[in-house]
Amino acid sequence: MRLVLLGPPGAGKGTQAERLAERYGVPHVSTGDIFRANVSSGTPLGREAKEYMDRGELVPDEVVNRMVADRLGAADCEAGFLLDGYPRTVAQADELDRLLRERGTPLDAVLNFVVDEDELLARIAGRRAEQGRDDDSEEVAKRRLVEYETKTAPLVAYYRERGLLRDIDAVGPIDTVTERAVAALDGPAGVTS
Ligand code: AMP
Repeated sequence: MRLVLLGPPGAGKGTQAERLAERYGVPHVSTGDIFRANVSSGTPLGREAKEYMDRGELVPDEVVNRMVADRLGAADCEAGFLLDGYPRTVAQADELDRLLRERGTPLDAVLNFVVDEDELLARIAGRRAEQGRDDDSEEVAKRRLVEYETKTAPLVAYYRERGLLRDIDAVGPIDTVTERAVAALDGPAGVTS
C-alpha cells in the first residue's frame, strides 16, 4: 500500500497516519517528524530546516525532495509507505510522481482529511497547551494555515484529477475518523490490491 495523507495543520493527520500505517503494515514517513529529529540532534539539515519551521513556512522543495527520495529508498519502504506531510507543493507532488514512476510503484490513494478553519484553530490552540510545540504559537499557526491554503490546497485538485483522492470527514472521535479512512481504502471504490 502506497498512501499520501493530505490535510491542513491540525486536521489530526499525524494521529491517523500512525494508526493507518500500523493497520496496513507500512512505515509512517512524516517529513515533519524527520525534520524535528534532525533539529533535536543538531544536524546541518536540522539547522537549515529550523529557520523555516520556526516561522511556520515550508522548507524549500529541493531540501524536502532529497530527504524523501532518500527515505523512500530504504528497504522498509519497498513494500509500501504512508507519507504524512509530503507532498506539500505541486513541485513536490511532481517530483514524487517522477520518483514513483521511475520505480514503477505508483500511489494507491491520497486521503484528504477535511476540517473547517474554526475547528482547526481551536485544535491547534489545544495542542499548543498540551505539547508546547514551538511552531504552534498563534502567529505561527496562522502562517502555517496560509502556507497550506496557498501552496498545499492545490494538491486536492491535483490528486482528484488523477482519480486518487478520497475525502475523509476528519471531525469526530479519533476512532470514527480512522474507520472512515479504512472504509475509504477498503470499500468498494477503495484500493483493491
Ligand atoms: P508537520 O509536522 O508535517 O506539520 O511539519 C512541521 C514543519 O516542517 C512544517 O511547518 C514545515 O516547516 C516543515 N515541513 C514538513 N514537511 C514539509 C514539506 N513536505 N515541505 C516543506 N516543509 C515541510
